[in-house]
Amino acid sequence: MIVTHNLGFPRIGPNRELKWAVEAYWRGELNQSQLLATGQQLRREQWQTQSAAGLDLIPVGDFSWYDQVLDMSLLLGVIPTRFGNIEDHNALDTYFRMARGRAPSGADTTACEMTKWFDTNYHYLVPEFEPAQEFKLCSTKLFDEIREATALGHKIKPVLLGPLTYLWLGKGVSATFDKLNLLNKLLPVYGAILQQLKALGVEWVQIDEPILALDLPPAWQQAFEFSYSQLLVPGLKKLLTTYFDDLGDNTHLACRLPVDGLHIDLVRAPQQLQTVLDQLPAYKILSVGVIDGRNIWKSNLLPMLDQLKKIQGRIGERLWIAPSCSLLHCPVDLNNETELESEIKNWLAFAVQKLAELSLLKQALDTESLSLYQLLKDNTTAITSRTVSTRIHNPQVKERSGRVTADMSQRFSAYPQRAKIQQQILNLPLLPTTTIGSFPQTQAIRSARQLFKQGKLSQLDYEHTIKTHIHETVQKQLAIGIDVLVHGEAERNDMVEYFGEQLDGFAFTQQGWVQSYGSRCVKPPVLYGDVARSKPMTVEWTRYAQSLTDKPMKGMLTGPVTILQWSFVRDDQPRQDTCRQIALALRDEVVDLENAGINIIQIDEPALREGLPLRKTKWRDYLAWATESFRLCASGVKNQTQIHTHMCYAEFNDIIDSITQLDADVITIETSRSQMALLDAFKHYNYPNAIGPGTYDIHSPRIPSTEEMTALLTTAAKYIPVERLWVNPDCGLKTRHWPEVETALTNMINAAKQLRTTFAKTP
Ligand code: GLN
Ligand code: ZN
Repeated sequence: MIVTHNLGFPRIGPNRELKWAVEAYWRGELNQSQLLATGQQLRREQWQTQSAAGLDLIPVGDFSWYDQVLDMSLLLGVIPTRFGNIEDHNALDTYFRMARGRAPSGADTTACEMTKWFDTNYHYLVPEFEPAQEFKLCSTKLFDEIREATALGHKIKPVLLGPLTYLWLGKGVSATFDKLNLLNKLLPVYGAILQQLKALGVEWVQIDEPILALDLPPAWQQAFEFSYSQLLVPGLKKLLTTYFDDLGDNTHLACRLPVDGLHIDLVRAPQQLQTVLDQLPAYKILSVGVIDGRNIWKSNLLPMLDQLKKIQGRIGERLWIAPSCSLLHCPVDLNNETELESEIKNWLAFAVQKLAELSLLKQALDTESLSLYQLLKDNTTAITSRTVSTRIHNPQVKERSGRVTADMSQRFSAYPQRAKIQQQILNLPLLPTTTIGSFPQTQAIRSARQLFKQGKLSQLDYEHTIKTHIHETVQKQLAIGIDVLVHGEAERNDMVEYFGEQLDGFAFTQQGWVQSYGSRCVKPPVLYGDVARSKPMTVEWTRYAQSLTDKPMKGMLTGPVTILQWSFVRDDQPRQDTCRQIALALRDEVVDLENAGINIIQIDEPALREGLPLRKTKWRDYLAWATESFRLCASGVKNQTQIHTHMCYAEFNDIIDSITQLDADVITIETSRSQMALLDAFKHYNYPNAIGPGTYDIHSPRIPSTEEMTALLTTAAKYIPVERLWVNPDCGLKTRHWPEVETALTNMINAAKQLRTTFAKTP
């Protein structure tokens, strides 16, 4: 009998019940026991769904109020001193204060930092270690949930984040100390946790060590053997789970660790199977992650079955099967989609459907019954229909993609010549001022959009409303005195969805939510087919905005890499091919904007960096096609048209070359939160084009003063020649309110003016 198991299930609930409950609790509309009851109910349903799908082992401990790494910090007692002594506070509120700085009880405190979980769009809370960090068991959540699930009769496998990955993900409060030194203190606490699991009757525990799919320094590699030999608990078996990439140079190490089983991701890294099979000792379980936990496509079960039979032939009952990683990254249940075209729906599988696939694989491996035959046949029919569907395959798009030549991703002249021509037309002052694109999305805008979508507001009335907002936004920018204006993005709900809705090849779900961080969920579009643009998408709004002023109006587009990165992308062709198709569609928009008299066009690429592969060896390839796509999209215009790009959350130091290769005339970046520390990259590297380092943090309601911004810009001017320096906030302003925005921007303009005088005096 083949064992099936799951690494983690989405905890948000099919209708985002967790989000609603947690937010109501934060607002004081739900008390703590009501919140706990909602959580318990959700866990019950999630376990029930998984048991009913026929899984042999279901995960426990994957449920989280906010984030599983933060859960781990509480379990291990890694609670920074500013949150006080946990015994003196309500523990759940301490947890929420660590997550977001505030909770119904306890004083507001600066929250812990948040960052992306490997190469996903999920964000975890970064553990903070003091040099003298102590660890102690501080939470019973995991043990309580184990009792809860066992009492309900489920066959379970608790999930723990492994000690090395936990340390790796954290940060030391002082830069000089080595986190790895904490291992000796950390391991005994892990030991105590494992002892408790054993006492609770647990047979298998899942220990996640996804850092085994990264390039690790030798000291970290060596720490694995040492750590796991300290964690032997007789009678308790460990399944070491890895995912998101290849074990690569850690294969030997991972296979040899003193654990009882190893899970590998065969979706992201199918090539590792043979080596692992060759190296895995004969007493160990091999769990293969064959169902894609990161995407929403139905699995092609027949070839998978063939492959599994071969593995089974080699290792027999030691074979386990599972999704590639936790299903946290998938929407919950496809059955809740009532409006998706049935043809497209038939190609998809969300978490619930993925578990059904798993159980079908298991049955087909164990028996050969006729009813299975029908199910497998249905699967094959769906897969085949996807390969031939005219909805997906557009010969014109494929043909155009094939015709792309190298010169198409190159501007006519190099930056210095372009810059001169552009300046003749634009006639901008020294230190030109601009914004990143969006202005406050007011309630009025949102409700107009909602009414329009519900059919309660006519197209004409909707357009009129949006134009009124654009008009207002332009007037306000003129009054503040900004040099390069924007229309404000009032018509956009989301920077990817807005374009996806107008491009062929995208579909939208109603309930396809995935947790991004805490109670925040995102609903990525489904990019299922060849991408084409049937008509201009932004030209009318931009043209209208430009008609209101003689100052330059900046066109605003989302770049190809970001659209790719923030969608569920088709898996039937390489990502770079899909990216190129998006780039070509956007290229037409760029040219149309130019023809409509727009002299400056910004192409946002905030997701460029997060698309970086986990393994450094794969960076070059990715960066080459990603930057090429950007240039393909941007280079259809004449020299005189100024191309801007914008990025946030970018740590530039290691990819600065690729940023240069984008060859944007101007790049605006996020730097204000780090007091321009991000500009370090520019200290030693002579970035050749113009840069606008963000001068104020739009994520905070705090209004920076003119002096503060003058100081930041003075710092920036040390690294970037002032002739190539722009002045702007660090991201879009859509989440802010008008009064703060007006004051902050006025201060920003004054800072620019002051510096212009200073620099005029000291040429
Ligand atoms: N133009 C977008 C805006 O201003 C950019 C958003 C982003 O960088 N995430 O909202
Ligand atoms: Zn941004």
